[in-house]
Amino acid sequence: HVAPPPRCAVASRAMSAEAPLGVTPAAAAAEGEEMVAVVDEMAEEAAVWCAVHGLVVGDRAEPRSGTIPGVGLVHAPFALLPTRFPASFWKQARELAPIFNDLVDRVSLDGEFLQDSLSRTRQVDDFTSRLLDIHAKMMEVNKEEDIRLGLHRSDYMLDSETNSLLQIELNTISSSFPGLSSLVSELHRTLLNRHGKVLGLDSKRIPQNWVATQFAEALSMAWTEFNNKRDGQTVSVVYFRAGYSPNDYPSEAEWRARLLMEQSSAIKCPSISYHLVGTKKIQQELAKPNILERFLNNKEDIAKLRKCFAGLWSLDNEEIVKTAIEKPDLFVLKPQREGGGNNIYGHDLRETLVRLQKEQGEALAAYILMQRIFPRASLTHLVQGGVCFEDLTISELGIFGAYLRNKDKVVLNNQCGYLMRTKVSSSNEGGVAAGFAVLDSILLT
Ligand code: ADP
Ligand code: MG
Ligand code: MG
Repeated sequence: HVAPPPRCAVASRAMSAEAPLGVTPAAAAAEGEEMVAVVDEMAEEAAVWCAVHGLVVGDRAEPRSGTIPGVGLVHAPFALLPTRFPASFWKQARELAPIFNDLVDRVSLDGEFLQDSLSRTRQVDDFTSRLLDIHAKMMEVNKEEDIRLGLHRSDYMLDSETNSLLQIELNTISSSFPGLSSLVSELHRTLLNRHGKVLGLDSKRIPQNWVATQFAEALSMAWTEFNNKRDGQTVSVVYFRAGYSPNDYPSEAEWRARLLMEQSSAIKCPSISYHLVGTKKIQQELAKPNILERFLNNKEDIAKLRKCFAGLWSLDNEEIVKTAIEKPDLFVLKPQREGGGNNIYGHDLRETLVRLQKEQGEALAAYILMQRIFPRASLTHLVQGGVCFEDLTISELGIFGAYLRNKDKVVLNNQCGYLMRTKVSSSNEGGVAAGFAVLDSILLT
């Protein structure tokens, strides 16, 4: 059985440059038709390319998916063409990666800062409280991690009001899509090598993306630093692909396992401290005046970080809570969770704030408020489940960073690739796995 080729649901306007002045309507219509044909051909080619190169994910529609290996796979949702992205912002985002790596490491060493900053959150958020318990146990025994490995991803959006690159969040655990994001760049390069001329797009403008290889190299370098040849006997590196969500700890057994790993001499990626540095609450605390200065010396680095910080507020700021209730569309309300689908927007944001205010105690401390960023929307062809359609979209760029340190020696501190995610602009959330966004790559302009 051969599946029918994906068809574009919306006849596309010309995707190359705008029609030049003086073009007759008939010529423009003919060009438009040619574009529709190219788009259909590309969507089909792309879907085949995904199957051949493993740009696939588990298919939720197939019940056996995830239980029987190799069964129930579907192409990952993707944008048909790379999204235009200004080279200056690309450079800025890449330059930030080693600075954020450094910051995470410095903050991780200040156990008191982590405990104090999260102390009120702990009273109302069981999950964060359990993480803090493990962290506190490590502090009690003065556990030191000589070798520290971080595989991070810092996410950004371009704010159209201020024309600036603003950070959405920094992920320090389970930074997702190093594998598939590398593949999407390859997919787009392949498509542009074949069709770029007609579209007026040059494949060389898609930056190389080797994050899968570089993350693997960082893991192997950590093993080398650990320098214990008794393998098979001593665990050298623990990588957490899970453990960032309460669902990953259905019973006490998982919490015991997490504690055991933390107590061990293995290199944890991330350690409990690195994990906590990546919480939304710490992001908000670091954005307060004079906090970065506690952790970094280089004034230029501090200025670069601050420039990408959006407005972030704790909910003990009554003034900002009042403003957010009045104008909920200008804010995002975030709990201490990862993985997409947890934030609160608009009408729900107002209702939640009003309700939490009425509840006595520390209920508000489970959340932070963030300035809502409004990227400029553009028309994009999206391919999901073999169907190609056109919609207004906005994008989020993640820059992966790898950091490895052994005592005083910084073995590795790099940016190492990117993840572009594009979503329909009417959707609030952004996760690909959560079903809100598609994988994308960038075309530098
Ligand atoms: P998570 O750790 O669950 O990924 P994020 O902070 O990245 O949490 O939020 C999830 C999604 O919500 C983001 O991918 C983005 O699409 C959207 N989002 C988050 N913060 C903002 C913001 N300040 N402005 C606009 N959209 C946001
Ligand atoms: Mg996250
Ligand atoms: Mg995120």
